Amino acid sequence: MSEENITNTQNAQPKADGQNQENTRTAKPFAKKRFESRRKVCKFCAEKIDHIDYKNIQLIKSFTMDSGKILSRRITGTCAKHQRQVTQAIKRDRNLAFLAYCLPKK
Ligand SMILES: [Zn+2]
Repeated sequence: MSEENITNTQNAQPKADGQNQENTRTAKPFAKKRFESRRKVCKFCAEKIDHIDYKNIQLIKSFTMDSGKILSRRITGTCAKHQRQVTQAIKRDRNLAFLAYCLPKK
């Protein structure tokens, strides 16, 4: 791979560049490594919050989508313990009409 790249750049021909791009597309294991996954940290563990208050609507709202869905742990990065508390708080807020159960798509 590296030798081909060097030869392509030395030639500096548009045709050679096109071939080079095709090579990178086919090489999928290299494409995956391009984006390094940043380690997600639980927001509540970082701030050392033991209990999530359902009355803190601004905070809890940040863990829901615009449509009202609860964001997954995979997206927000919260740990299992705090995710359970977040879902509990969201469901409590929905029942108290602080948050929406679901909103229609625009
Ligand atoms: Zn946590």
